[in-house]
This record gives sequence, C-alpha cells and structure tokens, in this order.
Amino acid sequence: MMSLYLLPVMEVLTAVWRNMSFLLQCMKMLSSWCWMEVSGTRKVSSPKIIAPQDPGRVKPISVNYHFTRQCNYKCGFCFHTAKTSFVLPIEEAKKGLAMLKDAGMEKINFSGGEPFLQERGNFVGELVKFCKKELKLPSVSIVSNGSLITEKWFKSYGEYLDILAVSCDSFHEEVNKLIGRGQGRKNHVEKLMKIRQWCCDYNVAFKINSVINSYNVHEDMRDEITMISPIRWKVRKPSI
Ligand code: SF4
Repeated sequence: MMSLYLLPVMEVLTAVWRNMSFLLQCMKMLSSWCWMEVSGTRKVSSPKIIAPQDPGRVKPISVNYHFTRQCNYKCGFCFHTAKTSFVLPIEEAKKGLAMLKDAGMEKINFSGGEPFLQERGNFVGELVKFCKKELKLPSVSIVSNGSLITEKWFKSYGEYLDILAVSCDSFHEEVNKLIGRGQGRKNHVEKLMKIRQWCCDYNVAFKINSVINSYNVHEDMRDEITMISPIRWKVRKPSI
C-alpha cells in the first residue's frame, strides 16, 4: 500500500528533476562564468531557478543574460565588478539561447557589466539580431550605461531591438562623476539625450534606470524625466 501512495509523489519528483535538469543544462551552456536570472511563474533576483508550483509548466519565460562583468564605469554601488574578463564565444551563447527558446523563453534582456564594451557593441548586436531574427522572441532588450552606444550601432542593429534601458542617476554631471558614472571629459547626460533621440529615430522603446544613493538622494529628477519621456522610469536603491 505504501508504494501505491508513493507513486504519484515519485512522478512529481521525476517531472521536477527533468525540468530542473534541462534548465541547468541551458544555464551551463550560457556560462558558468556569467550571471543569469531565469524567471518562470514569478520574478527572481539571483541566478536561481524557481521551484515550480506545477512542475509540468516550468518555463524560463524571462531571461536576463549578463554575458560580461567588465565595465568602463566604476559605480560605487556596483555588484558586477569585473572578477573575470571571460565572455562565452558567440556561437556557444547562441546555442544556449536557442535551448532556452525551446524551453519556453519569450523575453531576453542583455546586461553586464557594460554590454557595449565587447567588440564595440557588435557582440551584443549579433545576439540581439539572432534573438529577434532567428529565434523570433517577442521581447529583446538591453540594459546599458549608454556611454559606448553610437548611431552606427542603431543603423546596424536597431531594427532587432525592442527596448533599450539606459542608466541615469543624476542630471548633474558632477554628481554622475561622484557616483562613478563618468569617463574623462565625456558627458553622461549629453549622451543620454543623444540615445533618446536615436531610440526615436530607429523605433526602439526607451527606458531609464536610476539608482538612488547618497549622492542623488535629494535630487528631484521629475522635470527632466518628464521632458525625456521614457516609456518606463525604473528607480531602485542599490542591491548592496
Ligand atoms: S555602469 Fe552598471 S555595470 Fe558599470 S559599474 Fe556602473 S552599475 Fe556597474
């Protein structure tokens, strides 16, 4: 009698194991070096796979692929400090992405580090193109600090990108420099404005991400944000 009761339990555990094994295989494919967030029935904030409520329905619907940890900025609150310069070869990355698509992925976001650092943006551009053109994903997005984005990139890859989110913690250049978002004489806010215009020109939805920290906590950014009019303004406190 005991074994009869145990049978359904064993079936559920087997199904869970099959799903988990497959997702782990995909993640291994994409990297043991990169961070990756996979969300199914709800969002998670670490490279974990959600324990399924219904094991038969586990899907990596929304994937956040941090393919590099390198960045040209040095934000004090950043948790993606470059501990390794390893980036998975692009064909391997594409294989992993295709496996995730087969497992149910609908949304991909490329992040870092700074995604435009690798091969002057061509690496992320080719992944964006692959995900839109070959995998036909409904949502393809990038999160970037914006500093290395050019109009040439939009000309080559803009048609494959749905959403671009750019970080902006302050509309005062001196504050951006204090935060660590700065590169010599380049002006972060001026670049943000250019990217906003390119997003309009190449039909890419534009978002702004802001991290609230001790340098900008008293800054009222509502007027500038209203003027720029992103489709979404994501405001958060540092993770650490
Ligand atoms: S721009 Fe982003 S990845 Fe780069 S240092 Fe700042 S928070 Fe980290």
